[in-house]
Amino acid sequence: MVIVDRDGRIVRVNEQAEAVFGYARGDILGQPVEILVPERFRSAHVRHRQGYFRDPRKRPMGVGLELYGRRKDGTEFPVEISLSPMGSDGELLSISAIRDVTSRRAEEERAQLLMREQAARAALEDAVRVRDEFLSVAAHELKTPITSLRAFAELLIRDVDRKGSLDPSRFRRGLERIDAQSRKLTTLIAQLLDVSRIQAGHLSLELADADLVSVVRDAVTAVEAVGGARSVGIEAPPSLRARVDPIRFEQVLTNLLDNAAKYAPPPGRVVVRVVETGGDAEIVVSDEGPGIDEAHRVRIFDPFYRVDGRGPVSGIGLGLYVSQQIVEQHGGELRAEFPPDGGTRMIVRLPLAGPTVRSGDR
Ligand code: ADP
Repeated sequence: MVIVDRDGRIVRVNEQAEAVFGYARGDILGQPVEILVPERFRSAHVRHRQGYFRDPRKRPMGVGLELYGRRKDGTEFPVEISLSPMGSDGELLSISAIRDVTSRRAEEERAQLLMREQAARAALEDAVRVRDEFLSVAAHELKTPITSLRAFAELLIRDVDRKGSLDPSRFRRGLERIDAQSRKLTTLIAQLLDVSRIQAGHLSLELADADLVSVVRDAVTAVEAVGGARSVGIEAPPSLRARVDPIRFEQVLTNLLDNAAKYAPPPGRVVVRVVETGGDAEIVVSDEGPGIDEAHRVRIFDPFYRVDGRGPVSGIGLGLYVSQQIVEQHGGELRAEFPPDGGTRMIVRLPLAGPTVRSGDR
């Protein structure tokens, strides 16, 4: 307990105050109360003290602040102080009840540390769970094409062993299936690697000045070549130059075109439209397929999300996730729209000048 007068002089202290601050009574009586306050707070304390005497009432000091006391030897300790006015012989005094809260603060800090540790552990467990899920999906999805690869290969070996009965067109069909399954496997592995790069923040872009229209044409040609006779319409200006990673950008388009081919069966048309709008390029891949039910629309860009789970169409639910990440890393956006008359429209918007953050900054 420390009692001060209007001028901030200490007029009375009790024994605990002597013990806590390390002063003998005789040393501090008559001294400004600021000797009990760490130096850096002293001038503010003078102002607060004067303010208190203008409006003296019982209240805690410095609500919401961490207050410190200063011992005679200069060491500091956390305190809580409550103030109350007291009249004595017609003079107004202020009583400060000061409590050393070192052990309570330490307790609070320990509790906070514990909470942070628990949160960190929960985050780690989450990351491990996501990784395990990733590994189990990856293993499952890789096994499927490998199983059919082996089946076709064994079939061909048996055919070859049955000498004399080799049918070239049957042989060719077998090889085509092996080829198709190997492509699927390659795509899967590439997507899985991309996801782990994205999640580790290591998907970097190799930016170059490129013609978006010719990248679009290349992607269309590639998809037409594997997608059978399905032709894709292109509506684009002769050229549109932009700063992009051409390989990654083609990957995005190939994925969108692949999806259109996979999920929107013929005779529906697939069209890619390229336009320039206010410093951005907009590339729209439209199909006339079944679209996506409203309930699923918010999730199609999530990793491993498929509307039809392990349905008949091959895929692992990573294409849109990876594509969106690539587009966003270019400083653009990838979103889906569903026209009222049906079909799906995937819209890529890219800044022509390239990303404003350097790749690798993320
Ligand atoms: P997947 O490997 O399954 O194709 P994606 O991430 O590319 O993964 O797509 C996620 C899901 O979104 C797909 O499983 C499919 O259900 C749906 N989807 C994507 N594109 C289309 C489309 N053009 N038309 C209908 N559904 C689509």
